[in-house]
Amino acid sequence: MRVLLLAPPGAGKGTQGARLAEHFGIAHIATGDLLRDELRRGTELGERVRSVLDRGELVSDELMLDLVFAAVRADSASAGYVLDGFPRTANQAHEGRRLAKQHGLQAQVALHLQVTDDEVTRRLLARRDGRSDDTEPVIRRRLALYHEVSAPVLDYYRYKGLLVDIDAMQSVDAVAADAIGAVQAATT
Ligand code: AMP
Repeated sequence: MRVLLLAPPGAGKGTQGARLAEHFGIAHIATGDLLRDELRRGTELGERVRSVLDRGELVSDELMLDLVFAAVRADSASAGYVLDGFPRTANQAHEGRRLAKQHGLQAQVALHLQVTDDEVTRRLLARRDGRSDDTEPVIRRRLALYHEVSAPVLDYYRYKGLLVDIDAMQSVDAVAADAIGAVQAATT
């Protein structure tokens, strides 16, 4: 079972990714978490991406593709994955799908969590769990990038017939129920 979660920052990708992974017994791969883990451990990669994350910009496609492929091919993802935070550019989507196909690991469904900008800004400012990119100017930048750069990713999966829109303005439980239902429908 292979699932992509596409959504603006603050839409609940992390929470819903964890719920889906637990429900289906698959790996939850969150690209933001992978990067923040590199920062915490002070690795060379972490140091390279630190200022990019702090400014709310996007890490290079090449680096992201390497990072995601290592995670998707790991033993821990052998039953499948829910990938949260990737792809975020059209190039990541095209290249990612091309590479995944070579290994029979392409996603079967892309869930699009829909939330208004006002609501995600409110949620992110309320969260402020110590993330250096949860300040108002950086949130604005991350949202702008989502609309500019990530919108074509939605078009790409819609065109392929893999996109399912989920109303993510609902309660966490209601969103989770819709997401689980959509994955079941797409994979059976
Ligand atoms: P997230 O936790 O998903 O909000 O990601 C936090 C930050 O990690 C983003 O603001 C980007 O700087 C970086 N990042 C995560 N995923 C990607 C990706 N697929 N492409 C580029 N940058 C990413």
